[in-house]
Amino acid sequence: AAKAKGAGQNRHFTQELREDKNPLIMLQGLRDALANNELSLNFQPLVNAATHQIHTLEVLLRWDHPTLGRIPPDKFIPMAERHGLMEALGQWILDQSLRHYAYWQHLEIAPSRLAVNVSPLEFQAENFVDNLLSLLNKYQLPPDILELELTEGVFVEQDEDTLKRLDALSSAGVHLAIDDFGTGYSSLAYLKHLPVNQLKLDRAFIRGLPANEADRAIVESTLALCRGLKMTVVAEGVEDENQADYLKRKGCDLLQGYYFGRPCDAEATQKLLVQQRVQ
Ligand code: C2E
Ligand code: CA
Ligand code: CA
Ligand code: CA
Repeated sequence: AAKAKGAGQNRHFTQELREDKNPLIMLQGLRDALANNELSLNFQPLVNAATHQIHTLEVLLRWDHPTLGRIPPDKFIPMAERHGLMEALGQWILDQSLRHYAYWQHLEIAPSRLAVNVSPLEFQAENFVDNLLSLLNKYQLPPDILELELTEGVFVEQDEDTLKRLDALSSAGVHLAIDDFGTGYSSLAYLKHLPVNQLKLDRAFIRGLPANEADRAIVESTLALCRGLKMTVVAEGVEDENQADYLKRKGCDLLQGYYFGRPCDAEATQKLLVQQRVQ
């Protein structure tokens, strides 16, 4: 067994080396990716737990590099953040996201909401709120169709600037969601003061459902907490029917995961929306 484990670790190591090859090529590529049309958006549904109708689409960024192939966002987003590219990238993502949504609204197939991931670095930019509101205006979209997914770190920050920004967004009608809930910080104090609408339970807690007792305890107490705070809850990473049934029974509002649909490109997403519409 020890030998097998060693071999496995070794494989993992070489795999990592391979993925990290050519960081310079990757970085140079990332600077050009926008201009070269290598970036695109995927969309993944968040469905109503009771009806399984699409309620929200989450935007997920994709990068197809001409020689390195598809590079996962977990790899290049941190790189964009380190090298000061995230602000521009974030603006592009928001612009394209809203452009797609406006088009689907025009076709009368748009879901209630669009969820866009926002990097803490992007959020900290001086004119983030103004830029966002002018983009909504550019596409003539009401702010409440938009939900920003922010990681716990942003909410925990609690500096005056962050609070002001969160309040400004919330007052404008933009929805705010905590992404990857449960993975970062242990303090729940911040939930009391902040204008948060929705919480996304990290898939680490969903994977073991419904068998795992600890996961059940965490999920059920989070659901109770959010009911008290009048926040809706999304379960991420729902991969099978047992998980979906359990979460629905326990009162989880929205479900997201491969069981309901993988992230797919705008064209396939549009087909899905049309299909839902005619049902
Ligand atoms: P995230 O925001 O937590 O996104 C969820 C990730 O889980 C996505 O990976 C999605 O494809 C994957 N996923 C969805 N359902 C399932 C499932 O049932 N099982 C499993 N195993 N995975 C599932 P993806 O697209 O590779 O994105 C990874 C991360 O990269 C995202 O995590 C987010 O932190 C970041 N990211 C992606 N797009 C953007 C973006 O436009 N802006 C920013 N700032 N970050 C982004
Ligand atoms: Ca997310
Ligand atoms: Ca997440
Ligand atoms: Ca995540």
